[in-house]
Amino acid sequence: PTNYVGFDTITTQIENRMVKRGFTLNVMLVGASGLGKSTLINTLFSSHLDDSCGRNTVYEPIERTPDIKVTSHDMIENNVILHLNIIDTPGFADQINNNHCWDPLLKYVKDQHNQYLRRELNASREKFIKDTRVHCALYFVAPNYYGLSRLDVQALKKLTEVVNVVPVIAKSDTLTMEERANLKRTLQDQFKHYNLRMYPYNNQYDDRLTSEEIQFNKDIRSMLPFAVIGSEDVITTPKGETVRGRRTKWGTINVEDVTQCEFVYLRDFLTRTHLYDLIETTSLQHYEAFRTKQLTALRE
Ligand code: GDP
Ligand code: MG
Repeated sequence: PTNYVGFDTITTQIENRMVKRGFTLNVMLVGASGLGKSTLINTLFSSHLDDSCGRNTVYEPIERTPDIKVTSHDMIENNVILHLNIIDTPGFADQINNNHCWDPLLKYVKDQHNQYLRRELNASREKFIKDTRVHCALYFVAPNYYGLSRLDVQALKKLTEVVNVVPVIAKSDTLTMEERANLKRTLQDQFKHYNLRMYPYNNQYDDRLTSEEIQFNKDIRSMLPFAVIGSEDVITTPKGETVRGRRTKWGTINVEDVTQCEFVYLRDFLTRTHLYDLIETTSLQHYEAFRTKQLTALRE
């Protein structure tokens, strides 16, 4: 066509730039010790974390809280680089007095926002500011019969205000299918009752999203929290495939089998369908709110 000038290639140009730069995803693990946090993360990214291209460096977050540890992994898929940082927070809810045991986590989130803001406001600011902002907090709920504890409610209230929180039901192999369904219903009721805003948000009027995406988020929300099972062991299924699974006295559990647990849904959610939205929502909503508050306070 004669009036074609080719500006539609801008999408390819943008893609090339973004691919070259790579993406950073910072995931914080929250929950009492022994709930399978480390195991699940290893299960989630197993094929990547222990392959040769995966680096395994540990960096110290700024103003380090004694218990918070960050592990970094670079993953590559079809030329796209994902810098994955896992923020492990052992010690949460392990004390005799758990009052304000979420404070170090809130402080960590805030410190990263603060650091980003300072770099952004620097007269000679970097072209690409290293992003340490927490994009997702995976919150582990214990497999039980009553749902959230008082501590869960308090911690979730605070966390959901500053970071994208994705709740999961930990070690769900310890519940029957019926107990699992009941717990899920209880938790969904509690989220509503206590007004806990879980990610993905009910952003019906968000003009960044297509109507399909809005519907998809609605479907996802009805499935939360994902009931997950983690395992560091490789098992052989009756069909002869080798998969991640748990071998028990009564048989084997294949963590990748969606009829047994929702691990695959969680993985797809984090790495396939919502990876970019987690990053963007952190920047446009959580960081923006922090930034506005800080800059307004400065002016007063
Ligand atoms: P963390 O303290 O939250 O990091 O917990 P770990 O990942 O270290 O796991 C604590 C223990 O629970 C280990 O013995 C794991 O093998 C076990 N475990 C982890 N995930 C699961 C699970 O999904 N189901 C069951 N039954 N045990 C699990
Ligand atoms: Mg651990």
